[in-house]
Amino acid sequence: MRIDVVTLFPGLVRECVSVGVVGRAQKRGLLQIYTWNPRDYTHDPHRTVDATSYGGGPGMVMMIEPLRAALTAVREAAPEPAHVVYLSPQGVRLTQDKVVALTALPRITLLCGRYEGVDERLLARAVDEEVSIGDYVLSGGELAAAVVIDAVGRLQEGALNDARSAREDSFSDGLLDCPHYAKPVHDAWGSVPDVLLSGDHAAIARWRRQQALGRTWLRRPDLLARQDLDAESQALLAVFRDAHAQAGKGEN
Ligand code: SAM
Repeated sequence: MRIDVVTLFPGLVRECVSVGVVGRAQKRGLLQIYTWNPRDYTHDPHRTVDATSYGGGPGMVMMIEPLRAALTAVREAAPEPAHVVYLSPQGVRLTQDKVVALTALPRITLLCGRYEGVDERLLARAVDEEVSIGDYVLSGGELAAAVVIDAVGRLQEGALNDARSAREDSFSDGLLDCPHYAKPVHDAWGSVPDVLLSGDHAAIARWRRQQALGRTWLRRPDLLARQDLDAESQALLAVFRDAHAQAGKGEN
């Protein structure tokens, strides 16, 4: 997959995506990331990319021309059509489903805003969709772009050493992930649940499913409400809820 990032701070994006799974995906040739600086598409000595906002008020606005030229260069750099995403607090919320949808595309272009944002006319004509990473305002789109690249990059086939990791992660099947434990078995802060040491794979799978259901019930009832649980899952959840109530933790 190819990802082009239009940004005033290419180093920031590159640094964020150079390590771990996503760094490895690039080294394995699974993901190509290119950065494009709109300043390289200016024609004045100050390499100006922003101007004051018509109507007045604080803050600068990213001008059309340098971004249009940068996006044209991006489009012409490869034959595949690029789906252009503007990172914006006003966009659709990034979810795992959205990440999966972006991962299915051969190529995406991420446009990072700064200042008050981007001239609306550029957004109307050159952007396919706006994506937000949450209901808060960042000072620029670079960290949001890095979030998208990380989430999309780890889903590239061959990026994770074991593809099961992604399948079992939170949200992949609509539930939160189960708890995980590592060495030692016994610690001053508690012991590993016996079932995980039993070697009984069916029992372990049942326990994990039950924990995932229970956690989702406790922490994200909104996700659970969207699930059409089969009889076995309902029974597992009922046992979890009973145990939770008996432990004196009360109803969710
Ligand atoms: N004036 C804009 C508004 O209120 O909608 C916010 C501009 S913000 C200071 C500068 C840039 O940061 C935006 O153009 C956008 O690219 C990025 N940004 C800020 N918050 C974001 C978020 N929650 N998700 C994605 N990008 C964000």
